[in-house]
Parts: sequence; C-alpha cells; structure tokens
Amino acid sequence: MRIVLLGPPGAGKGTLAGLIKEEYGVLHVSTGDILRAEMKSGSDLGNEMKKYVESGALVPDEVVTRIVAKKLKELDLTQGIMFDGFPRTKQQAQDLDRILKELGFPIEATLFMEVDLPVIIQRLTGRRVCKDCGAVYHLTNMPSKKAGVCDSCGGQLYQRADDNEETIRNRMDVYMSNTAPVIDYYEDQGKLRRVDASQKTETVVKALSDILENSNG
Ligand code: ADP
Ligand code: ZN
Repeated sequence: MRIVLLGPPGAGKGTLAGLIKEEYGVLHVSTGDILRAEMKSGSDLGNEMKKYVESGALVPDEVVTRIVAKKLKELDLTQGIMFDGFPRTKQQAQDLDRILKELGFPIEATLFMEVDLPVIIQRLTGRRVCKDCGAVYHLTNMPSKKAGVCDSCGGQLYQRADDNEETIRNRMDVYMSNTAPVIDYYEDQGKLRRVDASQKTETVVKALSDILENSNG
C-alpha cells in the first residue's frame, strides 16, 4: 500500500506514521526528517537548506524531489510506504506520480488529517524531539517518563528551531497557499480520505489501519 499523509504542521503525521510503521512494517519517508538529518550532517546542501527550514519556508521543489527520488531507489517498495511531509506542493505531487509510475508503484490513497490552528499551536509549541532517534514527545500530551530524556534510547530531547509561534504561523501560511492545492489534486483523482486529526491518537490510527486493511482484503 502506498499512502500519502496530508495535513498541516502539527496534524500528527509523523506520530501516526511512527505507530503504523511498527504494526504493519510499512516504510515511512518523512522529508522533514531527511532534511533535518542533512542539516545536522553539516553538508553544503544541508547548510543551504537551513535558511528555508528555520524560517518556515519551503525548500525548493527540485531539491526535495531529487532527495526523495534518490531515497525511493534505495527502498523496497513492495513493503508499502507512507509519505509524510511530501508532496507539499502541486509540482511535487506531479513529480511523485511520475517517479512512482516509473517504478511501478503508484499512490493508492491519501489520508487528509484535518485540525484547527489553536490545536496546531498547542501541539507544536509543546513538541520535543529526541536528538538521537527522532522519537517525538509533547510536554503535556505525551511526556517522556523522565523530563528531557527519551524513553526509548535515553537521548536528549530538544525543541525544533521551527517550533516557535512566529515560525509556526509562517508554516501555516505556506501550508494554506502551497499545500492546500495538493488536497484538491488527490481529491480529483478520487484518492482522498479524511480524518479529524484533533481526535485522540488511537482513533486516528484506526482510520489509517482501516485503509490499510481494506486495501489488502
Ligand atoms: P511539519 O509538518 O511539522 O511542518 P516537517 O518536519 O514535515 O514539519 O517539515 C519541516 C520543514 O522542512 C518545513 O517547514 C520545510 O521547510 C521543510 N520541508 C519538509 N518537507 C518539505 C517538502 N516536501 N518541500 C519543501 N520543504 C519541505
Ligand atoms: Zn531517542
């Protein structure tokens, strides 16, 4: 099953993908994670990206698409795959369709995770991420057992540079103008499913596992 997780920053795409990936053994490709790893590596490409990511702007389409295309060639797509944070523009959606068509594994469904701005801001300002394994926590919604320390690997938790209120508002503006057209793009193809992503995690997980199971049966 090839699925795109769509939704504003803070919709819970990464959290959902993390939970589903363990249960179903489906691959998870998060462009945000890939870009942050690139920036952490200190490469020229990574340094070039910082100005976009830290202000909440989008990294140029051709850069992100090139990175995704390279990643896809390394993966075994028969395992199924969830895209998280990509495509984020209509151009990226068209490019992804072309790349996957060439590989013979087209997108089958997209899950649009809907959530309102106040919830988004509460989620993102409280988000904390493990420096070492990337696990995601929340100060009040999903705290680690020991403050500042990752439950699964003991790594230190930090706040993403783009998870401050001003940058979050920029990311929302970018989302409304660039990513909203992607919703229509998949709706026009008859591939769009919706879920109210302000519901509790288990409910949202169930919406996605229903899609996965119905596709197999
Ligand atoms: P969120 O979904 O919470 O905004 P991500 O981790 O998906 O966070 O993305 C963080 C930042 O990385 C984005 O604000 C953007 O700068 C960059 N980015 C991630 N995916 C893409 C993409 N597909 N195209 C362009 N920029 C991207
Ligand atoms: Zn960790």
